[in-house]
Amino acid sequence: MSAPEYYHVSISRKPGGDSAVQLDFSLEEVKKAIVDPFLDKRELICGGYRLMYSEIEKVRISVSKEPSSNLIPKLEEAERIRSEASGLGSMGVSNWDVVDKSDDVTGKLLKDRSFWYDEMLVCNQGHIINSSFGRKPLKNKLRCDKCGSPTITQCPQCGSSIRGDLHEPHYVFAGENTPPLFCQNCGAEFPWKKKVEKETDATPMASKIDYILQNFNGISRPLRNRKHDRAPFKIQNEYDVQDVLHVLLNVEFRDVRPEEWTPSYAGASSKVDFLLKEQKIVVEAKMTRDGLADKELGEELLVDIARYEGTCEKLICFIYDPDERIANRNSLKKRP
Ligand SMILES: [Zn+2]
Ligand SMILES: [Zn+2]
Repeated sequence: MSAPEYYHVSISRKPGGDSAVQLDFSLEEVKKAIVDPFLDKRELICGGYRLMYSEIEKVRISVSKEPSSNLIPKLEEAERIRSEASGLGSMGVSNWDVVDKSDDVTGKLLKDRSFWYDEMLVCNQGHIINSSFGRKPLKNKLRCDKCGSPTITQCPQCGSSIRGDLHEPHYVFAGENTPPLFCQNCGAEFPWKKKVEKETDATPMASKIDYILQNFNGISRPLRNRKHDRAPFKIQNEYDVQDVLHVLLNVEFRDVRPEEWTPSYAGASSKVDFLLKEQKIVVEAKMTRDGLADKELGEELLVDIARYEGTCEKLICFIYDPDERIANRNSLKKRP
């Protein structure tokens, strides 16, 4: 916790007008009441005066470690010594002197901030809590409301800010959906790196599943034509497809959850879904039969896509078509 600071402001109006002084702002207050409106060329209020931007001649902002109530007696004492030493009469001490004799930070606070980055508040698991930490303080939380982990705005290694939204004078560019993986200052890995990478990395997994599905036909053949007069394993309906697929997916993925879902609206087919929980991928298996070919499948696919919207990273629809009922394969593949 840094020592408290007191900000003092004096504003002179253009010749002929009054002048305004206000003492003992906090940094946040002075930014909100004076700095931001001034930089945005808006009207502002200082010392009870309402000032138009166009009326302002000069702004001075200064800072002291003590409030004006401590400073004024000290300034009065200094003024008494000065007037006695010089033999001239005392000038007295006004609020102006408080602004004048404190450290000038006008340039620092009013410097052009046409582009600046806010800080990002992220939990240790990589959930973004607030990407405008400074500008939208009401969204800030000590702990993540998704997972309960503590939240940070700074690199644990070097203490530099995690970059958040880009602010321009009149609008905000809310940039990222995922937090950065490395500190832009020291290069250290952030605590959430591995987790975020895993979640955004559904693509290689999807191509593995693709490989398994491409080979489904090749697998079903030896099952059908078994040696030594054993009864064939026939894949005759969606349930059979489900079982074979379950075995195949289990080779590659540990957490495969079969979920059966029978559409009540049409009763056209029973479909089987597999949820690969970790990878957030849903695999859906269908099998063609009488009355279930191109048109019906296309319609079902659209329903499925809508049903899974937002609940998983990827939806893979597998259509087993042993009797080649589907006339136009390409049109099905092309569906969104
Ligand atoms: Zn979290
Ligand atoms: Zn760092």
